[in-house]
Amino acid sequence: MKCPICKKPADLSPRNRFRPFCSERCQMIDLGTWVSGDYEKQDSQPADHEHHDDLKKRRLLN
Ligand SMILES: [Zn+2]
Repeated sequence: MKCPICKKPADLSPRNRFRPFCSERCQMIDLGTWVSGDYEKQDSQPADHEHHDDLKKRRLLN
């Protein structure tokens, strides 16, 4: 099986405590992806509202 992060062959035997990742580095990247993904979701909401406001303004101007 390949590591889901770096796509290199991962050691899935019990001695690899980072499986299914190949290393601690890829395991941390995966955790970081989850954290930043949640953060982006919360962070993108105000930007969406701004975008909708822009569309409203454009409609009013036209
Ligand atoms: Zn990896």
